[in-house]
Amino acid sequence: MLDVRTTTLPDAQTAPEAPLSPTHVTIRREDYRPPDWLVPEIQLDFQLDTDETRVLATLSVERNGDHDRPLRLDGDDQLKLIAAKVDGGDAAYRMDGSQLVIDLSGERATIETEVEIAPAANTKLMGLYASGGMLCTQCEAEGFRRITFFPDRPDVLSKYRVRMEGDAQRFPVLLSNGNRVAHGNATDGRHWADWEDPYPKPCYLFALVAGDLEANRDSFITMSGRKVDLAIWVREADLPKTQHAMNSLKLAMAWDEKVYGREYDLDQFNIVAVSDFNMGAMENKSLNIFNSAYVLADQETATDADFDNIARVVAHEYFHNWSGDRVTCRDWFQLSLKEGFTVFRDQSFGADIGSAAVKRIEDVRVLRAVQFPEDQGPLAHPVRPDSYIEISNFYTATVYNKGAEVIRMLHTVLGPDKFRAGTDLYFSRHDGEAATCDDFVKALEDGSGVDLTPFKIWYSQAGTPKVRARLEHDAAAKTATLHLEQHEDPTPGQASKQPMPIPLKTALIGNESGHEICPEQLIVLDKARQSVAFQNVTERPLLSINRGFSAPVIIQAERQPDELERLAQTDTDPFARYEAMQDLMMRALIAGAQGESVDSDAVIRAIDATLKSNSLDPAFKGEAILLPSESIIADRMQIVDPGAIHRSREALRAAIGSALGDALLAAHRSDGAPGDDLSPHAKGTRRLRTVSLGLIAASEESKAARLAKAQFDAADNMTDRQGALGVLVSLEAPERKDALDAFYERFRDDPLVIDKWFALQAAAQRADTVDQVLKLAQHPDFVMTNPNRLRSLAGTFGANHWAFHSADGRGYAFLAEMIVVADKLNPQIAARLVPPFGRWRRLEPKRRDMMRQALERIAASPGLSKDVYEQVSKSLA
Ligand SMILES: [Zn+2]
Repeated sequence: MLDVRTTTLPDAQTAPEAPLSPTHVTIRREDYRPPDWLVPEIQLDFQLDTDETRVLATLSVERNGDHDRPLRLDGDDQLKLIAAKVDGGDAAYRMDGSQLVIDLSGERATIETEVEIAPAANTKLMGLYASGGMLCTQCEAEGFRRITFFPDRPDVLSKYRVRMEGDAQRFPVLLSNGNRVAHGNATDGRHWADWEDPYPKPCYLFALVAGDLEANRDSFITMSGRKVDLAIWVREADLPKTQHAMNSLKLAMAWDEKVYGREYDLDQFNIVAVSDFNMGAMENKSLNIFNSAYVLADQETATDADFDNIARVVAHEYFHNWSGDRVTCRDWFQLSLKEGFTVFRDQSFGADIGSAAVKRIEDVRVLRAVQFPEDQGPLAHPVRPDSYIEISNFYTATVYNKGAEVIRMLHTVLGPDKFRAGTDLYFSRHDGEAATCDDFVKALEDGSGVDLTPFKIWYSQAGTPKVRARLEHDAAAKTATLHLEQHEDPTPGQASKQPMPIPLKTALIGNESGHEICPEQLIVLDKARQSVAFQNVTERPLLSINRGFSAPVIIQAERQPDELERLAQTDTDPFARYEAMQDLMMRALIAGAQGESVDSDAVIRAIDATLKSNSLDPAFKGEAILLPSESIIADRMQIVDPGAIHRSREALRAAIGSALGDALLAAHRSDGAPGDDLSPHAKGTRRLRTVSLGLIAASEESKAARLAKAQFDAADNMTDRQGALGVLVSLEAPERKDALDAFYERFRDDPLVIDKWFALQAAAQRADTVDQVLKLAQHPDFVMTNPNRLRSLAGTFGANHWAFHSADGRGYAFLAEMIVVADKLNPQIAARLVPPFGRWRRLEPKRRDMMRQALERIAASPGLSKDVYEQVSKSLA
């Protein structure tokens, strides 16, 4: 599944006690016990209806081991139990909370249950629910128990047979996992279909779709010559927007054969797009269900970033067929087993089909914006967590993105061939099983012959390591010594830390020649302190460290501004080059935010040189000249004053804009990128055009407004149009309203584009953004029940550092209110809005108090879900 997401200071205030909630049970990894009963086979019979669906489940159960414990089937208050039978006779059952408990004397039995559920009333969007007239499911992590009684845990694997019956007019298409083996007409205008999935799977991979859909059909010949029928199912009007997803799917299938030797294993592969969906997409065996935002795209309505995201998410879910479906997780603490690995796989795929350097920069930017703050705040947890109250809260950037970085480090240490030998062994050894993170590392060890024991600490120890680096040069002896020191801050539940193995790709660049005077080598820092010697250092060396971002750590390197400026122009590793630029900018930004004098000349010279370089591609330039975001700056500061950070960043942007007006205008005007050209060069040109425009706007508002309006009006693609509007929304210019209105009128019938319209305004860098957002929350198109719409307004606002931290506290009040209201409808989505509050301890005193009070108000609201309760109580603790 894929989602569309600070040394603690001593606090003078007494931390408030976390609210008591005896009903919210903490689940611990150390308590894991194999299932008491297995379910090798299940037959499901659905009588489908939007308001009232009947589900008849027939389970063949087998006692697992020598014990006399009863059969426990997980349920939910959504289920209305009609009947329960054991071996055809009425069952003597009892309810324990929402579990159905049956005492069984023999080794095996056949259990039948009949329940009634109400898909249209299911606003949590977990289990079986209605979306735009169709019926669909979402079961990961614990949604299957909202469909029928079952041992809802990933280590119970079953073969599924599914019969679906429904109204032939309203639900002409009936889909489930595996192969359709029979279908026909029933009475009263109803029809039915039988589906059979030959591969045993955990219930979180079950899926069902019934609706009036049309398919974009294609096929793929696998490496062993089998033909697979592919279909992407959408509403008829959306069919023209599915070709990019189909192309991406075929690329992904070929890539997984080539890079991992993994072939698809069934005759059909279906993707369905759904408008109301909590996550990005879900890898149900052979029936992937997608948030429509990750399927639908055309030049008119989707940006280059949307196209890239679709390719990435389609690939991610497809790759899960092996890393997730064929080999699944033993328990939810092992979530990163499938997610960290699959994110690594989709990132590698993205690097292979586009620009590898730019892809790496984008991935690291996400990690820094979302995972680093998580890892340094009250919600910090290991990649393999030790406990949870609500597992939905652990679909985090730590489990996904840091999990992927852990796999990347293993890949770096082993090299591609040994890594592949390890993954081959992993897939063959655990095929059809529910495995653990330890199993994965063991298979890599056995396959490669390399001991990886030290690396396991990355799964268990939370927090982002900090690495100090200092290079000493002895010109006379022509040597250099690199002194490294690592430090890990305490995180909740982990007061003291061990040193971690940190693989640092390192090179020395000659200050005069600009060449690698000491070529790249892999240094594994695995002690608290370590020194590394370099020979034949023939000129002044510049330290190029953590090249390619080989480890997910914060590097604190002692480097002078002139060294960074030189590295920004000469470093032979594109990521390190980008990083030198970021470092240079960050120093100026922090100095400004602390009220110190700022030397912006080095930054300006470095940007000038980047813009004028003939050897750099435009996509890289667009990334390299982008200043670190305000929240990333805040992460580097001990005491956060959002107003001061905003002023510092705007001042540097204005200085760049006025010093480099002509160069920026030239970059903005560069053409040669027709809207239907999706090559990396064309995408980069569009990116650079808008980034340059943003810098022009910082110094010359009215000129930028004219240029932006011209770009908006002339745009033949969504990237240019949205880019121009994104600049305009932050300006005080008459063009702003005209463009916003025109955009709305043009796309009012396209929900995915109206999401952008909301998000652009929620992201605006304006003094009155809070007022605008409050008004938008009253807009007729704002619907709380649709996760994409809620995220576009409330989620985007929470990430708008300056506006969310509005000095009067209204930003906090707004988001807190949104969380409380959303919690009544969809706790999972509401809980995802909480993390921006988690940074409260780092804020200056006035805002710190207001944030804490907002959290306390959420905590005190009656009937809080366990999802929001867990996030809020941990944030306060
Ligand atoms: Zn996933």
